[in-house]
Formats: sequence, structure tokens, C-alpha cells
Amino acid sequence: MEDLFQFADTFGPARIIHIHRPAAGLKAIVVIDNTACGPAVGGVRMAPDVSAEECFRLARTMTWKNAAAGLPHGGGKSVIFGDPHMPIDRKEQIVRAFAGAIADIAGYIPGPDMGTDELCMGWVKDETGRAMGLPSAIGGIPLYEIGATGFGVAACVDVAGGFIGLDLKGARVVVQGFGAVGKHAARFLAEKGTVLVGASDSGGTLYDLAGLDLTALSALKAEGKRLHDYPRGQKLPADAVLDIECDIWIPAARPDVVRADNVGRLKTRLMPQGANIPCTAEAEKALHERGVIVVPDFIANAGGVICASIEYRGGTQRAAFDTIDERIRTNTRLVLEASRRNKELPRAAALALAEQRVRAAMATRRWR
Ligand code: NAD
Repeated sequence: MEDLFQFADTFGPARIIHIHRPAAGLKAIVVIDNTACGPAVGGVRMAPDVSAEECFRLARTMTWKNAAAGLPHGGGKSVIFGDPHMPIDRKEQIVRAFAGAIADIAGYIPGPDMGTDELCMGWVKDETGRAMGLPSAIGGIPLYEIGATGFGVAACVDVAGGFIGLDLKGARVVVQGFGAVGKHAARFLAEKGTVLVGASDSGGTLYDLAGLDLTALSALKAEGKRLHDYPRGQKLPADAVLDIECDIWIPAARPDVVRADNVGRLKTRLMPQGANIPCTAEAEKALHERGVIVVPDFIANAGGVICASIEYRGGTQRAAFDTIDERIRTNTRLVLEASRRNKELPRAAALALAEQRVRAAMATRRWR
């Protein structure tokens, strides 16, 4: 009992569901955190090494993200244990088995996350009748293809940059994790005049002070290659992405990559958190004390879930982009203003904003 309730507090989690179907080779965890604002929404992650605790922390992040973005959704998350690069037939079998297992958990609407995509959500919808982030063939807005989250990260940078007088023309950007979030964030920022000087994937870091060619790198990744397969630029280990001096450092890979033991290596002015929980609390505090503006994950990377929520209600791609732009700009400004006013970490200000919205929703519910 103690183990199960170690994460419990005023806000949740409402349910932690362990799914094990040995015959299908399926092991998964679903966490439904708080549903005061509406049915829980959160991605399905496929990875070999995710813990129940990480799943809970990601679900809680979704509670704050959805509430901060003013969406009619609570927070949830799920994890399927496995290698996301397994053969596609096998992946379909496992994702469909997962969908079958959650079919009657109506309080949770799955979406894509690391290791899953629109196609996976199509399979989930086929099995359960509900999923977000669907392929366009069945009425979805292809949020990975259009780069909804990266678009929101760029909008966040636009506003946050104003707080430190950062001119985006020529500003140096580094992206850790050149995937769905990272590459589009870099692309939308480049449209505002920034230069991508460093990027990494799980195979290594690529560095070029003169600027990396975004189109070429995206094409390379689309072919399933690694950044190190790119003929130009300096090739460094994956971890070296921390050491590249820049104006904007975007984490867009895994949790807890910036910690007390390595935060000193970052030389940047602004960190919009593309990834979820990329910094430990100590690291975030250290950055703040050094004057680095950290825009917390659940404010900066809400573009994807805003887009998915608009899709779920039958809205258009144009409406999705407009809403992302408006909500992320407003929230970034509100959070950074409150942080300055109250001399607190941006995360504390963002939490206060989200908590206030969740508490207001909880007040309307029978079980608080
Ligand atoms: P993705 O799988 O498309 O890309 C992740 C990238 O990170 C890949 O290029 C991978 O090689 C790289 N990577 C993995 N481990 C690494 C390491 N140790 N060092 C450097 N690079 C590494 O995933 P994504 O959808 O872009 O998600 C990235 C992060 O953003 C996750 O934390 C996810 O929860 C968060 N997020 C994603 C979305 C979305 O719309 N996709 C929305 C909100 C938040």
C-alpha cells in the first residue's frame, strides 16, 4: 500500500493502472492524475526504461499543462515498455493490445509521445474509439508533421527573449534531441532569424558555429540516419551538447538531463523546456540564480496538446496554430512577470497559475 500511495497528494493521482498481458508481450502503466478539468489527456510513451515514478511525474506535468493552457482536460500519461524501433507489425500488435486493455478506462484519452506517433494513435482509435493526435487520413491534424510543439516553443522564446533583451536575429540556438519537438523548434526559430549552432540525438552531437543546415539535417533524420552521418560540422559525444555556448538551449529529449552535477556546464541565457521535466529542481534553481530564464515544460511545450485538443473538438489546423500562439505567449508573459514580481522561480509562478485553475475546477466536483 505504501508503495502505491507514495505519489499521492491533494491533486492525485486518481488511478495508477498496471497492465500485463504476457501472451501479447505487453507491459504498460497508465497514470490518471487529476480529472477535475475534464477527462485526462496525456501521451503514450514507448521506451524500454521508464519507471512508474517517471510515468506519474509526466502525468502530473500534464495536469498542470492542460490546466495552464485552459483546456477542458485533466492530466494522464501512459508508458508501454519496449523498444520503439521494433518491427512495425510487432509494434502494431503491442499498441493494439495496449488499446484493448485501456478501452474501458473512459477517463483517459491517449495521445502520441516519445516512441509513438499518429499511426499508433490511429490503431488506438480503431480499438477504443478515442485518441488524439490522429493521422490526417482519419481527420487528424498531423501535429508532428506541422511541428505544433516546436511552434509553441518558438512563440515562448519570442516572448521570453524580450525579458532579457535578446535579439533573435543571429541568436545562437542549441537543441538537445533533434526529434519531433527539437527540429521544429529550431525551424520556427530560424524563421525569426536564429542560427542553430549545435544539435544532438542519442548517437551524438553536431556542432558548427557557422550554423547547421536544418533542412539537410531533417532530411537525414527522415531517412532514419543519425546526426553524425551528416558530412559537415564537428562530431562530439551526445553529452557534449551541454557545453556548447549559446543564447537559447532547448532540451527536447529525456527527463532529468540537467542536474546539479552538470548544470555548471551550460552557457546560455534562455532555456525553453521542449522536453518534459528535463531539469532536476536543484538544476533549475541554479540556472535561475545565474540569471538564466527557464520557461517550464508545461508552459513552453503545451503546443502539442493544445493542437490535439482542438483536433478532438473538430477544429482546424489554422485554429490550432492561432490558439497555440495566443495561449503560449500569454502564459509565458504571465509566468515571467509573476516570477519577477514575486522574486520566485518561473516554475513556482507557473505552478501557482495552474494550481489555481485546477483548484477552481476541483471546487465544482463532488470528490475533490
Ligand atoms: P522524439 O523521439 O521525436 O525525439 C527525441 C530525440 O531525442 C531523438 O532525436 C533522440 O535521438 C534524442 N535523444 C534521446 N536520448 C537522447 C540523449 N540522451 N541525448 C541526446 N538526444 C537524445 O521525441 P519528441 O516527441 O520530440 O519528444 C521529446 C521530448 O519532448 C519528450 O520529453 C516529450 O515528452 C516532450 N514533448 C513532446 C511533445 C510532442 O509534441 N512530440 C509535446 C510536449 C512535450
